[in-house]
Amino acid sequence: MSHSPFPVPRRHSVPVHIGQHTVGGDAPVLVQSMTNTDTADAVRTAIQCAQLARAGSELVRITVNTEEAAAAVAEIRARLDDMGLDVPLVGDFHFNGHKLLARYPECARALAKYRINPGNVGRGRKKDDQFATIVGLAIEHDKPVRIGVNWGSLDQALVVRMMDANARLAEPLDAAAVTREALVVSALESAARAEELGLAHDRIVLSAKVSGVQELIAVYRALAARCDYPLHLGLTEAGMGSKGIVASTAALAVLLQEGIGDTIRISLTPEPGAPREKEVLVAQEILQTMGLRSFTPMVIACPGCGRTTSDYFQRLAQEIQTYLREQMPVWGRQYPGVEAMTVAVMGCVVNGPGESKMANIGISLPGSGEEPVAPVYVDGQKTVTLKGETIAAEFQAIVDAYVRSHYG
Ligand code: SF4
Repeated sequence: MSHSPFPVPRRHSVPVHIGQHTVGGDAPVLVQSMTNTDTADAVRTAIQCAQLARAGSELVRITVNTEEAAAAVAEIRARLDDMGLDVPLVGDFHFNGHKLLARYPECARALAKYRINPGNVGRGRKKDDQFATIVGLAIEHDKPVRIGVNWGSLDQALVVRMMDANARLAEPLDAAAVTREALVVSALESAARAEELGLAHDRIVLSAKVSGVQELIAVYRALAARCDYPLHLGLTEAGMGSKGIVASTAALAVLLQEGIGDTIRISLTPEPGAPREKEVLVAQEILQTMGLRSFTPMVIACPGCGRTTSDYFQRLAQEIQTYLREQMPVWGRQYPGVEAMTVAVMGCVVNGPGESKMANIGISLPGSGEEPVAPVYVDGQKTVTLKGETIAAEFQAIVDAYVRSHYG
């Protein structure tokens, strides 16, 4: 939970249990992710689920789009269990979910939650029947659902109905406002329908994803004000690289600061060769830098400037950050609380000692014109001055000793 001096009051939501986790209520905001392997390839999908889970994804979603994919789900679950990973799997269904869940009961059992997109559940009169079938299977298998609306696949019949009604108003809203309202209405009406069909109120999570930052904020504020279902936040199709990270952070930070959002997913387009786990790291860093949760000790580093003498300081900051993250699978079990530790790595003595005193441990490397020494601060007190070729190794040893003595 947060140790932030700026606690953020959360919007009230009903807790929904998904596997061993809870989304909503007083539960921490959960991190989730989605695979991009072919689900029919059980081995590769299980490996990627494991990578995402080990990176910290607390729920992992897999698409279930074909008979072969549905047939592979139980094996994916079994492989994860064999690896000692109990991460709940969420099945993403579009168009044929009613058939796949009915034909593959072992898939329906292996999944911890079903995602239903009301815009893709079926067309015309079939839509209601197919939606009812999926909800009925969720009830039969005692699974929660996420009703996940996406404006790329918004229910067109609903949009037409709402556009027509809007046109008859004395002062019609603009088309973008009607579309935003249609997203909210689609999610709320589908949830109400699921409850009429017998699904419990506390078995429903909602999302309404769009790809624009301001639109996402407006849609989720409206959704949050009109229901108490837990909300899954995410900017859909956020994009690649820094743009995807910045856009997701800009949108989610505003909402999280308002207490809106119970689980988040960052929809990054991975750069070629980049690990899928990047989206998990970004989600964790959003929550941690906002003081909402802690996952791994964080390095505070200055940007460097003309006073920085070499890239040694950048390399040390990077090495320490990597080292801290790599230790967490073990430290997380052995040293509770270590995830909130802060380590400052600074480029010179202008801001170095000040920043170091505020961190648990800090080091200031020598800037230009300074003595070639690196003062180290522990809990606000200067303890030692390092110099020479062994600064990095000695500093890491100080960090290790601190972790053992303070969190053991
Ligand atoms: S701490 Fe020193 S090196 Fe880092 S940005 Fe400030 S003045 Fe530059």
